[in-house]
Amino acid sequence: DAVPAVCRLTGDDVTALWPVPGPGDHKYTRGVLGLVAGSQTYPGAAVLAAAGALRTGLGMVRYLGPEVPTALVHQRFPEVVAVPGRVQAWVLGPGVGPEPSVRSEEVGEALAAALAAHRPVVLDAGALALLGETFTDLPATVVLTPHAGELAALLTARGEETSREDVEDAPARHARLAAEITGATVLLKGATTVVAAPDGPLYAQAEATGWLATAGAGDVLAGMVGALLAGYGDLLSGELHGALPSDGAGLPARLAAAAALVHGRAARTAAGLT
Ligand code: AMP
Ligand code: MG
Repeated sequence: DAVPAVCRLTGDDVTALWPVPGPGDHKYTRGVLGLVAGSQTYPGAAVLAAAGALRTGLGMVRYLGPEVPTALVHQRFPEVVAVPGRVQAWVLGPGVGPEPSVRSEEVGEALAAALAAHRPVVLDAGALALLGETFTDLPATVVLTPHAGELAALLTARGEETSREDVEDAPARHARLAAEITGATVLLKGATTVVAAPDGPLYAQAEATGWLATAGAGDVLAGMVGALLAGYGDLLSGELHGALPSDGAGLPARLAAAAALVHGRAARTAAGLT
């Protein structure tokens, strides 16, 4: 197999990609993110994913979830809207479960709706378990954000028996394999974060810090990726019904890599590192 080229985004690349509001913008042109996250058991994941999205910058977060996390999200972020409506991208799964019967149904419905509308989607944590059987031939505008254990489970469910250790030993190869099997863009989290699309370059991001190895860090990243996808939502879904416009090919992977870079650098800054 040809080994794909490994790219590293620079700060300038990220600056060029990061959506900046113009004078004529309104909240719908900046992007609306639909967030299905949190549960009675993990309500905080909803707050953390919303925080990642809001700090990244976007027009609006719409939060759809149970009562307890909804109240918590509103306490921290009164600007979050908790009614369904127009959405340009989705984040599904942070802190979802373990009330699987109800929540996975909601996530499955949101995913089906997002795919039908050709909207970009981030699938994290609890939403990744759905991919075992249900969805195949995903577009590259679906971004999976597993850690090594979640990627091993996903590959194993797809008949590619793999352990967490295997994934940690060869992250690029396993991320690319998962992208090829699902069709989606795969952001594999870890000490080095790797982003792979079924074709095109592979991004590696090793500038983070072990201070990120803490519960909730992944929820924040999911919100960040979602906000960037929402900012490009109309370009990514386009009028093209499934096919990316030529200037949008490879964009989901680039945006996911940009989010990972800023997430890692923000952690370094917060930890007092340079
Ligand atoms: P999660 O496992 O979903 O909570 O996500 C953890 C987040 O922290 C991901 O963005 C990882 O890339 C990051 N992370 C975890 N451990 C490390 C580490 N040792 N060095 C750098 N980043 C890490
Ligand atoms: Mg996680």
